Formats: sequence, structure tokens, C-alpha cells
Amino acid sequence: MGLSRRTFVATSALALAASRPLHAKTEADVIIIGAGLSGLYAARLLADEGAKVVVVEGRNRVGGRLESYRHLEGSPEAGGDSILGGYGRVRDLADQLGLTVVNHRPRGRLSQTEIALGGNVIPRDEWAAHPLNHMPANAKTSFPGRRFFESVVAANNPLDAFESWADPESKKYDRSVHAFLQEQGWSEETINLNYNTNIGRGTSAHDCSVLTWFFRIGWDKVQTDIENVALKVVGGNQSIPETIAAQLPGDVHLNKPVAAIHQDATGVDVICEDGTTFRGKRVINSTPLPPLRWVNFDPLLPAEKAAAIKMLPSMKINKVFLTATEPFWDDDGFGPGMWTDTPMGQVAVLRQLENSTAVTGLIARSRGIMAEKLDTLGSEAAQALVIAEYEKLRPAAKGKLKAVGYKSWAKDRFAGGTWMEWHPGQVHMFQPHLASSAGRIHFCGEHTAQSNRGMEAAAESAERCAFEVLDML
Ligand SMILES: Cc1cc2nc3c(=O)[nH]c(=O)nc-3n(C[C@H](O)[C@H](O)[C@H](O)COP(=O)(O)OP(=O)(O)OC[C@H]3O[C@@H](n4cnc5c(N)ncnc54)[C@H](O)[C@@H]3O)c2cc1C
Repeated sequence: MGLSRRTFVATSALALAASRPLHAKTEADVIIIGAGLSGLYAARLLADEGAKVVVVEGRNRVGGRLESYRHLEGSPEAGGDSILGGYGRVRDLADQLGLTVVNHRPRGRLSQTEIALGGNVIPRDEWAAHPLNHMPANAKTSFPGRRFFESVVAANNPLDAFESWADPESKKYDRSVHAFLQEQGWSEETINLNYNTNIGRGTSAHDCSVLTWFFRIGWDKVQTDIENVALKVVGGNQSIPETIAAQLPGDVHLNKPVAAIHQDATGVDVICEDGTTFRGKRVINSTPLPPLRWVNFDPLLPAEKAAAIKMLPSMKINKVFLTATEPFWDDDGFGPGMWTDTPMGQVAVLRQLENSTAVTGLIARSRGIMAEKLDTLGSEAAQALVIAEYEKLRPAAKGKLKAVGYKSWAKDRFAGGTWMEWHPGQVHMFQPHLASSAGRIHFCGEHTAQSNRGMEAAAESAERCAFEVLDML
């Protein structure tokens, strides 16, 4: 869905810009930086209460980390993918906006995912006795990787309620996944197979806090208990922020990367790279942490907040979208989806159509250091490498795969990664400072939420921030 002319201020209108003094200030009650889900939802809530809002976005589109590849069949997601059962806010928002959602969970189970290690696809009946099977002795037949790791976390989760992850009493759990897995009796080989391969969070078991998994696993269970679904918006999840923007009474200014935020006793100036300045009584910043590192704050942010912005890492995921000219998997008898130890990572099968379960493509997700490896190659070479790796494992695919889309989230200057992560010891050092305001500047975004993840975290943070600001206007 496109933005209406009323709300969409196209910055390509150079003639218009030239006719105005460059530094003329657009004024509003609240300037919101970032037209992703959290920024736009906060804008909607504030506008509903009568505040004059203006949204300033660096990209040439709204949506941020919701990015639907509409040039591909069924608009698969380069970014935020699944709306889970317990996403009360996001599901309600999609309803309010008149969007249709489809449950993709049953579709995900229609093809078997193959295990491909050490250069070969390992037939399932050979897995238990295979030399590369480093599963614990009591789990030799289990599928390796994240789900298995998660089952062990779930069985040993010390948190009674996932929301208590950031409480001071939980500090003792803020240590590495590696230390936790060693305590479970896992060897280095078992850790490598089930954590480091196609890694869920971080770049290795050493640099991720297990406390964040204790939170995650408890939270996941609540999602599934409420309703075991993985919903996607028909036409793409990006339709959520797009529709909010189209309905917003205030303007959404695209192509306006913010370079500086200066506050004084009566308001805040938001200064863009091209010199355009927006002034508000209050500002909400919704950008992820990596792009915020380049924004100049005057006065400086409090030291703890500045340190959190600088030091918290972001997860790296690259996606290569593939189409097959023929269903080659019928020839070699393996499913098209594969869990591999190669730079192509895990290949999933896409069935994106609303009224059909036909295969619409494949998606290779490369994570952590494998994503870093693709980033060193650049887009074209990375896509070629993924196809070459797939063909090496599956000669039947030779000449039948085409790369039709590519996304590196770490290389995206307005994201700098997929979502915020935590090194061991960082939760209790930085968590209290992420959502705190600094004078007239307020902060939302998925990384500032405490009780949710992903899109629901973005929506949770928008509500918290909008109410915080309303009290101050
Ligand atoms: C690969 C991937 C898979 C995911 N899968 C899921 C999933 O299955 N389920 C789920 O719930 N969530 C998922 N997520 C997470 C979800 O997409 C995000 O949590 C959510 O979209 C974040 O919204 P946000 O508003 O906090 O941030 P963003 O969407 O990043 O919005 C911030 C906005 O700020 C803008 N910006 C940045 N810097 C500047 C600047 N200097 N000046 C002006 N504007 C700027 C950005 O362009 C962006 O539009 C996934 C994300 C990724 C990347």
C-alpha cells in the first residue's frame, strides 16, 4: 500500500526544498525519529490524543526492520517475519488497520529439513550413528541445533516468570551460554553442533548471555500457550507501518537521516544530514542502537546511556532468496530445506501464498560469523556462494536455482543488525538505561521493551513512550 500524498512528504521534491530557506524549522508537539513499527505506533497513539506529531525517517520508505520483498511471489519478509500467538498489541493493530493475516506455522512443517554437515547431506536413518553426530548420548536421534538447545534451556530454566529476567535477583544468571552448557555436561563438539551452528543469538556460545535465553524460552512458551500460530500479513508485514503512516494526520518525512539532536530549556531541535531542522517540545527516538552511534547529542546523553548505545551488540543475519526452475528435490529424494554448517546457513522453504501451500521459493538464512563471512564478499559474490554451496550438497539442483533477493541487516546503515543482543554481564549493566529518557528526549524501539521481543516489543515500547510523553505535554 502506498502512502497518501497528504502524509507523504517526498523529499525528492528538490524544487520545493530550494524555494525554502534550508534551515527553516518545522515545529510540532512531538518529533518522532524513525518510521518503523515503534515510531509510527507511538505517533498514532499521540495523534489520537490530539498531539501534533511529525515523523522523520532516514530511509526512502517506512517500515524499518519490517521489509517485505514485494517483487517476489507472496511478498516474503526480509525482516520481521512471524506474529506470534501472544502478540496482543500487534494483532489488535493489524485488525484495526483492516489487514488480513495467514497462519504459516502448519506450512513450515510440510517439507522435511535435511541435516547437511561436513559436505554431505546425511540421510535421516544414518544420523544416529553418524561420526559427525555429537548429540548427547541420550539424544542421538534428535535433530541438532537450536530446537534441541532450547529444550535443554527449558528443562533447566531457573526463572519462575520470564518477566523477572531483568530483576536484580536474576543477575547471577547473566553469564555465558557456554558456561551454562558446560554445566549440562556438554562437550565442545556438542556445543558447536547445537549452539554455534546456525546460531540463534550472538556469534558463539561465549558471547551471549544465557539469561536472555531464560527470558526468551519462558516468553516463547507463553506465546504458544496463548495460540500456536506464526501469522504473517497478506501482502507483507510492512503493510502494518505503511497503513499507520497513511492514516496519520501528521507528516512522515522520508530521506531525512538525523545527524544531531540538540535540546534546550524549551524544546529540542532534530537536525538532519541535509540541514533540515525539526523542532518539538519533545522528541521520541525509535532508531536501533547502531545508527544512533552516529548521532550527535548536545548536551551529551548520560554516561550509562551513552555506553549502552555504544557497546550493546546486534545480531547478524543475512538472507538470500532463491527460486527453483524445477522441483529438483523430487529427483534426489531429499527435502528442499536444509540445516547446514556452510555459509548459506539454514535453508527454509517458502509457501507464501494466501490460498495455497505451493512452494514459492527458498530462503537461506546465514547467521553470526557466517553472515559476517558473506558480508566480506559483497552482495553478488555472497549470492553466488550460497548457490554454489547448495549445488555442492545437492547436485540435482545444479543450474536450477536463481538468487532473486539479498539482504544483509548488519550492512543496512539504518539498522546495523537485526535486533539487540546482550553479552554476558551486560543485562544488569545496561538494561535500566535503555528506556530512560534524557531531558526532553524519549526512547522507544524493540530494544527498550522489557516483557516482549520483536514486533510486540516494538509495540510495547511505543505504548510506554507515548504515555510518558503525553504526561509531559
Ligand atoms: C531478519 C529479521 C527477522 C525478524 N523476525 C522477527 C519475527 O519473526 N517476529 C518478530 O516479532 N520480530 C522479528 N524481527 C524483529 C522486528 O522486525 C523488529 O523488532 C521491529 O520491526 C523493530 O521495530 P522498531 O520500530 O523498534 O525498529 P525499526 O523498525 O528499526 O525502526 C527504526 C526506524 O528508524 C530509522 N532510522 C534509523 N536511523 C535513523 C536516523 N539516523 N535518522 C532517521 N531515521 C533513522 C530506520 O530507518 C527505521 O525505519 C525480525 C527482524 C529481522 C531484521
